[in-house]
Amino acid sequence: NKKVILKNYVNGFPKESDMEIVRTETVRLKVAEGSKAVLLKNLYLSCDPYIRNSMSKHEEANYVPDFVPGSPISGFGVGKVLDSGHPDFKVGDYVWGMTGWEEYSLVTSPETLLKIKDTDIPLSYYTGLLGMPGVTAYAGFYKVCSPKKGETVFVSAASGAVGQLVGQFAKLMGCYVVGSAGSDEKVNLLKKKFGFDEAFNYKKEKDLNAALKRCFPEGIDIYFENVGGAMLDAVLLNMRNHGRIAACGMISQYNLDKPEGVHNLMFVVTKRLRIEGFLAFDYFPIYDQFFQKTVPYIKEGKITYVEDVVEGLENAPAALIGLFSGRNVGKQVVVVARE
Ligand code: NDP
Repeated sequence: NKKVILKNYVNGFPKESDMEIVRTETVRLKVAEGSKAVLLKNLYLSCDPYIRNSMSKHEEANYVPDFVPGSPISGFGVGKVLDSGHPDFKVGDYVWGMTGWEEYSLVTSPETLLKIKDTDIPLSYYTGLLGMPGVTAYAGFYKVCSPKKGETVFVSAASGAVGQLVGQFAKLMGCYVVGSAGSDEKVNLLKKKFGFDEAFNYKKEKDLNAALKRCFPEGIDIYFENVGGAMLDAVLLNMRNHGRIAACGMISQYNLDKPEGVHNLMFVVTKRLRIEGFLAFDYFPIYDQFFQKTVPYIKEGKITYVEDVVEGLENAPAALIGLFSGRNVGKQVVVVARE
């Protein structure tokens, strides 16, 4: 069983050498008698920015558990059931949920798995569009932002797993949508593939405030926050009164020893803004609602999804680290096996 393990807790930017590929004896391809565990063959693994958080040791309570050095990285993935002691899962079922960065995983808490009912859709989509990032985009946009037709929406990290979907949901609602991303290739995708009204490469803009003023002469009603830092400060200057900010993530801060300060918070008061943080995990109970709404959009071609697919477990560490330099174009997926 090939695995990706965390070697040591990480400080600052994670490196490939913080992880290691190891091989252990082949797993016993059976669940023990009386156990409710599920044995999975892992097919697709999801690289998600939050994984970075588990790679450090936290003194204070953390919203996700710290990894244990020497153990496989864990995260969301798609797998095939090889054996099961749980009544909800049968041999041959496809599932998505929490699994390990390894070829085979014995999942001892199968309540973290969901059976895949629609296998006409590419299975890898259950790491992104129809998985945790999809729920994030759905809950963050429809539930947290309280959007209305005709409003102006700004999405940062807009070409990523979550952002590309938020932009498309906002367009379907009849909003004016602008995205930022870190390369011209990504900006092109936003406009040509995902139908954003405008997009800019934040790495090329000398003045983020000016870029936002150019795209939003009347200001921003909704900001879907994925990056934090200087972008958040510039956005606060450009929000309209009673605007809403869905604080989904702040990836620019994850590898800093000391997070940057936010200078323009006073505008939250004067513009009567609502900033609301949220976690996808809280919205898993409405997964069916999200699924019922999104699958027809996919089947009718109203929503499209771009993945960045890397082959082989041995390439997973580089793929994960690439999230923090913007190497990924679209949802970062690692293929462990296709069948
Ligand atoms: P992405 O697929 O968007 O990958 C991360 C992207 O972030 C990179 O491609 C890069 O794009 C951008 N990025 C990296 N470093 C920086 C930086 N210093 N400044 C600005 N942008 C940067 O990831 P996801 O869509 O999965 O996640 C997007 C955000 O949503 C993250 O903040 C993540 O933590 C958050 N999230 C929150 C969840 C929740 O439950 N609240 C659940 C899932 C995700 P670029 O080239 O454009 O810079």
